[in-house]
Amino acid sequence: RYKRKYAAVNGKDGTPGNCTGKSADNLIIKVPIGTLIIDESTGKAIADLTTHQQEVILCKGGKGGAGNQHFATPTRQIPNFAKAGISGEEKQVVLELKLLADAGLVGYPNAGKSTILSMVSGARPKIADYPFTTLQPNLGVVRIDKGEAFVIADIPGLIEGAHAGVGLGHEFLKHIERTRLLVHVVDLAAVDGRDPLKDFEVINNELKEYSAKLALRPQIVVANKMDVPEAKESFVLFKEKVEALGYEVLTISAATNSGMTELVHKISERLKEIPKEAIVEIEENKTEYRVREEIPFSVKKEDAAFIVEGEWIRRLVNSTNFSDMESLQYFQRTIKKRGVSDELEKLGIEDGDTVVVDGMEFEYYK
Ligand code: GDP
Ligand code: MG
Repeated sequence: RYKRKYAAVNGKDGTPGNCTGKSADNLIIKVPIGTLIIDESTGKAIADLTTHQQEVILCKGGKGGAGNQHFATPTRQIPNFAKAGISGEEKQVVLELKLLADAGLVGYPNAGKSTILSMVSGARPKIADYPFTTLQPNLGVVRIDKGEAFVIADIPGLIEGAHAGVGLGHEFLKHIERTRLLVHVVDLAAVDGRDPLKDFEVINNELKEYSAKLALRPQIVVANKMDVPEAKESFVLFKEKVEALGYEVLTISAATNSGMTELVHKISERLKEIPKEAIVEIEENKTEYRVREEIPFSVKKEDAAFIVEGEWIRRLVNSTNFSDMESLQYFQRTIKKRGVSDELEKLGIEDGDTVVVDGMEFEYYK
């Protein structure tokens, strides 16, 4: 939370006698499983760390330069110039932790989500008969016979307008994105003049408004609080309507632990049908060493001077020894070869005009 800038140490410089400098160690930042890495400049996901020990290279290190011996020829045994290295990559990323649960309990506050979680798993969420008791998503591991298990999350705070930031729901909607199956809990006892069908529609609409993909996620509908007499009455119409929409409806009473075994087996069965594919789309990691030739440069005329800018040209200036004839010639040849002269000519440069490269002024002669 507090350390926001990380930099790997630099490698060592080369030493006399043609010795290559020692490379520096990699900088490894450990993050919890479920961390999504987003490129801040594009807003796209670069990596989704979903398994233990998974590694991703965010920024590649630089490349060492080449000493003057590198440029030695039979006629020029001790060149007076060398090539500067390439700096390592830098990147601004956002690390976002999303829960990794197989199934997510969604539904209106007070529908009984936390009660269900506490009944089917070892999780002990806060349960109370007023909305917004659960202020953070809770995870529980549900163990079924023969060593099988799945993870279920209680996603609180969904209310009308959650997708637009009403209440805390928006914070939690991102966690639902990661679940393969939604378990939609509806309070059939419908106290306070609530209509279960309306609750069901409101929540589904919130999911849809948040993301079209979420609306298409497989969903089991769970009619809860069936121990309450009024629930049985409203269930008749509810079941008819919801089944007509193509959903499977289960009845339970979380408080009295009835229908829970069936629910757990149903969730487990459905999970087996749903592939564990990557839910977040990852951008192909295209980082690679940039080839010098591909790096563009820009040329512009400002007042009486011609300004040339570009990363490689800056490096070229830095590695040139301007008091050395050969080094200077290398510099001039490179400038010509890369097309800088042509671009300057196009802007109407004439002999004697000033060219500024990385703060250094030159006088131009063809
Ligand atoms: P959540 O907001 O969806 O997490 O709901 P909770 O699990 O906190 O439950 C809200 C209230 O409904 C609590 O007072 C629970 O005891 C009650 N409740 C949950 N399930 C049942 C049930 O099956 N029958 C009855 N009568 N009450 C229930
Ligand atoms: Mg709750």
